[in-house]
Amino acid sequence: MSKTIKWEYSPAPEGTDHIKLKKQYELFIDGKFVAPNSGNYFKTINPSNEKMIAKVAEADKTDVDKAVKSAKNAYEKVWSKMPAKERGKYIFRIARLLQERAREFSVIETMDGGKPIRESRDVDVPLAAAHFFYHAGWADKLEYAFPGRKANPLGVVGQIIPWNFPLLMAAWKLAPALATGNTVVLKPAETTPLTAMKLAEIIQEADLPPGVVNIVTGAGKTGQAIVNHANIKKIAFTGSTDVGKYIMKAVAGSGKKYTLELGGKAANIIFEDAAIDQAVEGIIDAIFFNQGHVCCAGSRLYVQEGISDEVISKLRNRMETLIVGDPLDKNTDIGAINSKMQLKKIESYVKMGTKEGGSIFQSSCSLPNKGFWHAPTIFTDVSQSNRIVQEEIFGPVLAIQTFRTVDEVIAKANNSPYGLSGGVWTDKGSKIFKVTKDIRAGVIWANTFNKFDPASPFGGYKESGVGSEGGIEGLSGYVDLG
Ligand code: NAP
Ligand code: MG
Repeated sequence: MSKTIKWEYSPAPEGTDHIKLKKQYELFIDGKFVAPNSGNYFKTINPSNEKMIAKVAEADKTDVDKAVKSAKNAYEKVWSKMPAKERGKYIFRIARLLQERAREFSVIETMDGGKPIRESRDVDVPLAAAHFFYHAGWADKLEYAFPGRKANPLGVVGQIIPWNFPLLMAAWKLAPALATGNTVVLKPAETTPLTAMKLAEIIQEADLPPGVVNIVTGAGKTGQAIVNHANIKKIAFTGSTDVGKYIMKAVAGSGKKYTLELGGKAANIIFEDAAIDQAVEGIIDAIFFNQGHVCCAGSRLYVQEGISDEVISKLRNRMETLIVGDPLDKNTDIGAINSKMQLKKIESYVKMGTKEGGSIFQSSCSLPNKGFWHAPTIFTDVSQSNRIVQEEIFGPVLAIQTFRTVDEVIAKANNSPYGLSGGVWTDKGSKIFKVTKDIRAGVIWANTFNKFDPASPFGGYKESGVGSEGGIEGLSGYVDLG
């Protein structure tokens, strides 16, 4: 193996002096910040140092009911009656305010969730603003999105989001719902509620009529109260397949609509004719980006046999240069794992991979003492039936296999309960067409990975979900077409 060159960088942490955080966050209901019915608060911590950042209100059934009442009232009296052009103006205002405060949002996202500042600054926050801009534009043009049909809003929608892209997922949910004339009760994840609460401040500043957006914090029970509320017309959920299945059962027969964006186990396929150095960067991006806390992460790698030694050797070298550490440092590639629970889950899969007979390689980086950390990890000598090949780990762990023919790799890629995303690296357009046509996945990137655009729908097949978000397909999940 060739020798790896390592660079040392001077620390370059992003400042935190410009951010405004309260010690305690209340629920955002009817345009105001209000204390929870139970008087209970939970802590949100910074997973890179385990320090508490703030206390956050825990919403119970009564609070959720209050939020739904407010959303219903706002829907009936204000939002559904407002000219679409006016609705659009509010959404544009939210987008602009978010852009103005991008730096503050990036820092808070990184503190609360553990992801590197480079990602929250360059991916999460700009994409969140882009989603509001994109959907603001649709608000008064729905007749062009659905020609010859009338797009009627649904009413109050309940939205539940995970911790891996907290602000971005809030934007994916709120923007299309508001553009189509619905009102909302949104629940962020327990470990990452802060940017949603900051967004509530922006929504207040944008003068959105009270009740159009309500944000209730809490854990799974709060989510259940939303799912089961009789006056909610649609549930939009992003999270694990297990909770997705629970939601499907809970809403069955209720007449509620639902869209579910669930887990994944994407195949990233490298053919012999690919540009290898680019592909290696693509592999790194696909699985180590955001600590592998990505539903569409390229967590299964398939390398064509003739180049496997070269690819794996280059991959190991590149892994050695990845910087794991302070998420607020601009040089950091891999930040903290979101929670202790998630770290334990990843560690148990790594143990399982070794037990199943896989050969493990981890970069020799040193990990900080405090906080939750995991070194970038790859497994070779694994087979299709291994649990680390079949199950979603949601961490920086890659399972590598080889293949000989196009048909073989398509069969292997499809041998998964999931069907969310995938990647293909090759010089030949014909192979790209063949693979993207025959692999059952919602999105397959060619010679790149993890690229998003608000105009492009995102969603999965099989256990990866129901429905799409983004683009016209995403809008259609929030309307009844007359
Ligand atoms: P999760 O445990 O399913 O939680 C998702 C959200 O649901 C959280 O807000 C959670 O609250 C809430 N929740 C938990 N139990 C609930 C219940 N019984 N009823 C209603 N809501 C409930 O998922 P996660 O661990 O946060 O997120 C990781 C998963 O999300 C992965 O599987 C990943 O693949 C998936 N994901 C998918 C996409 C996509 O677009 N397909 C995007 C991102 C992530 P608390 O967290 O407060 O308990
Ligand atoms: Mg946190």
